Amino acid sequence: MEDINSLLRENIRNLVPYSSARDEYKGEEAIFLDANENPYNSPFNRYPDPLQMKLKKRIASIKGVPVERIFLGNGSDEAIDLLFRAFCEPGRDNAVSIKPTYGMYKVCADINHVGYRESLLTEDFQVNTRHLLSLADQQSKLVFICTPNNPTSNILSLEDILYLVENFDGLVIVDEAYMDFSGGPSMIGNLQQYNNLVILQTFSKAWGMAGIRLGMAFADPMVIKTMNRIKYPYNVNILTQRTALDNLQDLTYRDFWVNQILEQRSYLQQQLENMPGVKKIFHSDANFLMVRFDDPRRVFQYLMDQKIIVRDRSKVPLCEGCLRITVGTPAENAALLGALKQMSK
Ligand code: PMP
Repeated sequence: MEDINSLLRENIRNLVPYSSARDEYKGEEAIFLDANENPYNSPFNRYPDPLQMKLKKRIASIKGVPVERIFLGNGSDEAIDLLFRAFCEPGRDNAVSIKPTYGMYKVCADINHVGYRESLLTEDFQVNTRHLLSLADQQSKLVFICTPNNPTSNILSLEDILYLVENFDGLVIVDEAYMDFSGGPSMIGNLQQYNNLVILQTFSKAWGMAGIRLGMAFADPMVIKTMNRIKYPYNVNILTQRTALDNLQDLTYRDFWVNQILEQRSYLQQQLENMPGVKKIFHSDANFLMVRFDDPRRVFQYLMDQKIIVRDRSKVPLCEGCLRITVGTPAENAALLGALKQMSK
């Protein structure tokens, strides 16, 4: 795209952002009398680094992406919301996405009073790129794609996504929350080539840190700068920044967990195939399985009674009759299989 700036809402382009006390001094050791903090109760008395530079440098080296292409937020959900707020004029603009997919894109559109248009996936859960683009008009600023897609659990064709990036006149946001489970390449390598590509990743899945709320967006430095200008000044708290840094010291845990989960995914798949009442298990590139049951409501309720909670997706288009089951520990998966066996007796 020629000019990302022209995509911005006018009020955001003209915004004078909040300047926090810590924006002016970058060092660590100093007498801080600038932010009206309490001088006692270190380290919690101090505001966190608004741009999370230490953490970003570590992420930059892991991901091979320069710091100026990285945004960190309170989960990827924050990044999704900020993109709407930066680029979509309420009551006028719209975003286009696939259906079914992750529910927050539509919720954020609704909250921001932004139109939301959905292109139904094909029967094999791929994007109908021409149909999706036909839904776009002058007021379409964002396209949301999720790969591997939630809840369908499959990777979407890279070729199709690149087609959208090349042919859509706005930002294409590719949510890679589950990419670590897919073995597929991230699109981070395509960022240099496309200034309208935004990639979302999260520490909530493969990294095992959903509770600390930390999400990443990778994009053109202009997009990242804009997100930083409009976010809450201290959007990632001290505890989160520290815990993430600690957990990023040793990457072997993530790799171990991912391997365990993939092994258990195959095992669950295999076991479920022989289970009465199971109609179909869809191929998964994520850490969950989409399973079609003869009577999904009964299975859902039965599992709930056993205190095993799965996600009912049986009313979602293309997922009719399906429950979405996250891959757990070996013990949790055994409990699930045991309960399903018990139920079919
Ligand atoms: N993207 C997708 C596709 C998801 O399924 C989820 C959570 N279920 C998220 C993003 C949310 O990520 P975070 O925890 O970083 O907000």
